[in-house]
Amino acid sequence: MSAKDICRLCKDNLRIKGTISGFRSIFQKNDAREKSISERLTELGLPLSENVSRSGRICLRCFRLIGRLQDDFDVFRRWQEAEKDSNPAEASTSTSQATAESSNASSTGKKRPEKRDRVPTPSKTCLQPPTPTAPPAPKYSRPTTDNVTPKTARRSLTEVIIHYPSHPKGDRIVCQANTAAIVENIAKQNWSRAANQMVKNKDLLEALKENILQVIEDEIKFLCNPLKGFMLWRSSAADLKAFSFANLQSDLQSMAPFTYSIFSQITKGSPHPTCASAAIALQGREPRLSAFAYYVNGVLQYGGAKKLFTKG
Ligand SMILES: [Zn+2]
Repeated sequence: MSAKDICRLCKDNLRIKGTISGFRSIFQKNDAREKSISERLTELGLPLSENVSRSGRICLRCFRLIGRLQDDFDVFRRWQEAEKDSNPAEASTSTSQATAESSNASSTGKKRPEKRDRVPTPSKTCLQPPTPTAPPAPKYSRPTTDNVTPKTARRSLTEVIIHYPSHPKGDRIVCQANTAAIVENIAKQNWSRAANQMVKNKDLLEALKENILQVIEDEIKFLCNPLKGFMLWRSSAADLKAFSFANLQSDLQSMAPFTYSIFSQITKGSPHPTCASAAIALQGREPRLSAFAYYVNGVLQYGGAKKLFTKG
């Protein structure tokens, strides 16, 4: 693979089935009025050299990313301007400091420190405009726990402010990386997204497990109560004659919907195995829930098998 065939930025291969496709030229312009990608990257602090041994192309994904970076960078510049406007004294201090430092270095005839000892030029380390008053780039990364490793660091900051009557100014809580997305989605009532994020958090999932098991426990207690009319309690000859998987499924779905969905998930939604496995599990807990066992016994006897279960 030639160096010309890859994206200069992410190194993705651009040659698909022998043809280079889905790219933009870094140095060539389609329209003379527009800036080239090279010019746009230089403005962002990444000047690229035109070099025969390096690719002059980028993929469309990186191309779109440049657009987003520029948009974000515009916001960043507005922040800088706003800071300067609201605090002109500070801006001039840091400028004069910078000037003083450089004149100091030249007047004392001090040798400039070796390149590797110097503080890296901001444009070479991060996205920062080449101005002497540039504040440090804002850091959005939150403390992360070992528990959750986000694929990409969130660039937003989620805060919760709780206003108490006794404390009207409110308590401000900055959400950690592993809860920010949960809090945000709950606040927006995006329940499924919130739940999705919640189960990714091992500690939270562990806490949820107790509650989920309690839901199952309550449903099973209901089924195991002889007064609630669950069909597996009924094992008279007439009941067994009328036994149907459809009725068992309907009872399970209406009386223990959460538990049913778990068995259904295990069997990939296949109704007979769902009902059979639920019935066997329930008899393991409450032996008197025996209608399914009698039913199976009846079927086997009809087919000529030896007696497996005896009533009473
Ligand atoms: Zn790329």
